[in-house]
Amino acid sequence: MSNVESFDVALIGGGIMSATLGVLIKKTNPEARIVLFERLPQVALESSNPWNNAGTGHAALCELNYMPDSKDGSLPDASKAIAINEQFQVSRQFWSSLVQEGILGSPETFIRTVPHMTFVTGSKDVDYLKRRHKALKDQPLFSGLQYSEDLKTIGKWAPLIAEGREKGEYAATYIEQGTDVDYGAITSQMISWLETQGVEIHTGTEVTKLYQYHDRHWRVTSKSKQGRLDIRAEKVFVGAGGWALKLLQNAGIPEIKGYGTFPVSGHFLRTDNPEIVARHHAKVYSQSAVGAPPMSVPHLDTRVVDGKTSLLFGPFAGLNPKFLKSGSLLDLPLSVRPANVIPYLSVALKNFSLVQYLISEILKSKKQKLLSLRDFIPSSDLQGWELYEAGQRAQVIKPVKGGGTLQFGTEVIAAQDHSIAGLLGASPGASVSVSVMLDVMQRFYPDHFAQFEKPLTKLIPTYGKRLNSDAALAKKVLASTAKTLKLKA
Ligand SMILES: Cc1cc2nc3c(=O)[nH]c(=O)nc-3n(C[C@H](O)[C@H](O)[C@H](O)COP(=O)(O)OP(=O)(O)OC[C@H]3O[C@@H](n4cnc5c(N)ncnc54)[C@H](O)[C@@H]3O)c2cc1C
Repeated sequence: MSNVESFDVALIGGGIMSATLGVLIKKTNPEARIVLFERLPQVALESSNPWNNAGTGHAALCELNYMPDSKDGSLPDASKAIAINEQFQVSRQFWSSLVQEGILGSPETFIRTVPHMTFVTGSKDVDYLKRRHKALKDQPLFSGLQYSEDLKTIGKWAPLIAEGREKGEYAATYIEQGTDVDYGAITSQMISWLETQGVEIHTGTEVTKLYQYHDRHWRVTSKSKQGRLDIRAEKVFVGAGGWALKLLQNAGIPEIKGYGTFPVSGHFLRTDNPEIVARHHAKVYSQSAVGAPPMSVPHLDTRVVDGKTSLLFGPFAGLNPKFLKSGSLLDLPLSVRPANVIPYLSVALKNFSLVQYLISEILKSKKQKLLSLRDFIPSSDLQGWELYEAGQRAQVIKPVKGGGTLQFGTEVIAAQDHSIAGLLGASPGASVSVSVMLDVMQRFYPDHFAQFEKPLTKLIPTYGKRLNSDAALAKKVLASTAKTLKLKA
């Protein structure tokens, strides 16, 4: 094994998670020898690609699924929404520091202000949104959240949504500080910087095997057009998106036993028609249909990619056994192991209505999908909207006593010996990538983590603090990151 090159860290996958972890490691330990493998010809082509996700800077400003209604009509619990917003502020601070250091380019290349709005109809949801607003409006990180039941005001915020509606029960919240983010641009820019720091980037190279030596280091075997490559790494991060399950199973760590993946495909309708695009400037989230998973909440989004503005509507979820958009139809069947058969079966049985919903979504014709857009923008011209395939969401199936449970968040799976970790799951995803990768850093370096705090605080000034609990600090951080990232404060 003497001719096998050695690294401190091997990153598998060229998405936003590996890129973020690579930058965090290089900024805390510039001497670290890092290698990154990406199976596709370029980085950021899977879920982190701007056309494969919705680009929402998830801060719970508009997404109802992060703050479900209470059961008894009292104010809904805001704690999860606040925690997600705090995590997004960690990302905002990190990206601001990277702009200041020239690691990320001009902010317009990856982030912009797009107001976030929630729109609901019917007395039940109107009442819920009103209480949601009441619970959030005085929270420091939600400052500026407005509420209205008046169609004229809603029309000022989002003309396409209000036009053509009869009198009825409507409500909306609106906040200017929302964002649209190009996570693909962030990924590519971070990886370009890593390359300048001596990180070896192998694109078109698929990791096929992970083997642990007696000294706990890993042999990472990959294949590319050039042939097989073996390297040795002290730590391995499996940032392979939907394929993380497969690689962690291949590594044979006990911590992955019983886990499975529930893949949900996503399609969006998109228009570039300048007349329609010019009449909408917001990300408008609504309530999900009965039986629908939280990530299929319908939303109408302003989306800016490479300086060009489009509108997206969707997502239309569906069942597809691939764990990556460019994965294999065998991904699901080949992921079944004796330890996860019961979790898989129990999730299928417990979530029968979800499976039915996903099948019904697949069976919808393009015309039916356009008609659901009509529910959102009643009087708009439906010409010029095209349906396209976005990324695959690989949701986590987690083993629990007596079966399995379907989770809609992300989960870090780490070996007890701190030598390997991977990320399962999708939501809130790229928005909270920095917090999630800080968690991975803690799993990798539990004994040395304290010494990283100083460089981390330079990158994330409120590192370790609950930002929403300190109104003055929250205001200051929102203002300073807005200034650097050229966002509305
Ligand atoms: C439809 C949809 C909408 C979404 N909307 C949002 C949103 O609005 N806001 C938000 O914050 N998040 C959103 N997300 C989630 C977000 O896109 C993901 O959480 C994030 O991009 C995941 O990044 P990643 O680096 O883990 O994975 P990816 O970007 O998928 O990267 C993983 C990489 O690993 C590579 N790889 C896999 N296996 C191997 C191997 N064996 N060897 C080498 N390389 C390998 C893949 O080719 C891929 O490039 C959305 C996701 C989807 C699917």
